[in-house]
Amino acid sequence: MSDKLTRIAIVSNDKCKPKKCRQECKKSCPVVRTGKLCIEVAPESKIAFISERLCIGCGICVKKCPFSAINIINLPTNLESQVTHRYSANSFKLHRLPMPRPGQVLGLVGTNGIGKSTALKILSGKLKPNLGRYEDPPDWEEILKYFRGSELQNYFTKVLEDDLKAVVKPQYVDQLPKAVKGPDRTVEALLKARNQMDNIQEIMDVLELNQVSDRDINLLSGGELQRFAIGVVCVQQADVYMFDEPSSYLDVKQRLSAARTIRKLLRPDDYVIVVEHDLSVLDYLSDFICVLYGKPAVYGVVTLPASVREGINIFLDGNIPTENLRFREEALTFRIAEVGDEYLADKAMSYSYPSMEKTLGGFHLSIDAGKFTDSEIIVMMGENGTGKTTFCRMLAGAEKPDGRNSVPPMNISMKPQKITPKFTGTVRQLFLRRSKPLS
Ligand code: SF4
Ligand code: SF4
Repeated sequence: MSDKLTRIAIVSNDKCKPKKCRQECKKSCPVVRTGKLCIEVAPESKIAFISERLCIGCGICVKKCPFSAINIINLPTNLESQVTHRYSANSFKLHRLPMPRPGQVLGLVGTNGIGKSTALKILSGKLKPNLGRYEDPPDWEEILKYFRGSELQNYFTKVLEDDLKAVVKPQYVDQLPKAVKGPDRTVEALLKARNQMDNIQEIMDVLELNQVSDRDINLLSGGELQRFAIGVVCVQQADVYMFDEPSSYLDVKQRLSAARTIRKLLRPDDYVIVVEHDLSVLDYLSDFICVLYGKPAVYGVVTLPASVREGINIFLDGNIPTENLRFREEALTFRIAEVGDEYLADKAMSYSYPSMEKTLGGFHLSIDAGKFTDSEIIVMMGENGTGKTTFCRMLAGAEKPDGRNSVPPMNISMKPQKITPKFTGTVRQLFLRRSKPLS
C-alpha cells in the first residue's frame, strides 16, 4: 500500500477561520502550486478541506496557519484498512474497536481524547460505525462483513438481532443533574424508578447511598453523584453494562466498593466494559484489557485484547511487543524516591502549624501540630468526609480553628475538589487576574 495512504490531515473546527486569515495554508502548499486541489478553501468557506490522498506530508501548512488549525500525521503503521469510524472530512479517526466478550469484564485504558467515548458509543449501538466512509456510510450487512471472523461479528449480530440493551454510566457525572428530569429527583426515587434487578437496597448499602437517599441530586457532591450514577446502571437489567471512568471523585475504599459492585453484574451472557485511568482499579476489575493510543482529537487506535498484566504493561511501556510498535517515546515509570535528608534539614523553608480542633455541626476534627518544608510533596490520604478539605481550608485561612490556636499566615493556592465555575469572563481573563506579575 502506498505510503501516502497512511497520512491523516486534521483541520480543527474551532480554530480554522477562513474569514479571518489569508488562506495561508492553501497559498503555501507545494501541491496546490502544481495545480492540484490538495487544499480547498476560500474566504467564504466554513473550514479548509485537505485531501489526504494528494497531501505529501511536508507540514508547511501546519507552520503557516496563523491559528494552528492544522495537524498532519504520518501514522506509525499502516492502519488505513482498519478505520472503524470517522465523523467527517479532516476530523478524528478511530482505528479498530475493543472486542467485548460475554461473561468477562473488558477494561479500556488510554489518555483522554483518543476515542474511548467513540468506541463506547459504537458498542452501545448509539453510533453506527461508518468504516471511515462518512460520505457514503455502509449498511449493516457490509459492516458485519467487515468484522467477519472476529468476536465483533458475533457482538454486532447480537446487537442487531437480539436488540441488546446497553446502559452507560457517563464520564461527566457533574452534568447528570441537568440531564435527569422528573418531579421527584431524590436519589432513592430515581433509583426505584429504574430498578429492574431487585437489588436496590444492596446497591445503596455498598455504594454508601443510604445517607443521601432523600437528597435531591442537584445537592449531591462529586463523589455522591459518581456513586449514584454507578448505582443507576447497576439496578437495571441490561445485556451490556458500560462504565466511563467510574472511580473519579471516589476515595480508595469507595473505588474498591464500586469495582466489586461492577464485577457483580457479570453473568455468563452479558458484557461489562469499563474505561478506567486508575491502574490498580483496572487491574482489580478487568478480565482482559484493550489499550488505546494515538493523538488526542486526531486519531486513536485500539490494540488487540491482552491479559490484564500484559495490557497494563503495554500502556506503561508505550510499546506493543506483538506488533513491534512503540506509540510513546518514554515509558511511564513510578519512581520511589527516598526522602532526602537535605529537604528535612532545610529549616529555613520550613512552615509549621499548631494542634487544632474544628467542629462543624456533628463533625469534629482534631489535628496534631505539624510542619512541612519547601521542595516537598506531601500526600494526604483518607476516606471522603474525614476532614481533608477542612484541614486544607484551615491551612489556607479560609476556615478558622476553634479555640485560640491559629495558623500562621502563609501564601496558599488551593484547587478545590468540586469545580463550580463562578467567573463569567474568558479563561485568559481569569488567568491574568489570578497571576501576579513577577517583580
Ligand atoms: S487552516 Fe488556517 S490558514 Fe487555512 S483557512 Fe483555516 S485558519 Fe486559514
Ligand atoms: S502538509 Fe504540505 S502537502 Fe500536505 S496539505 Fe500541508 S502544505 Fe500541502
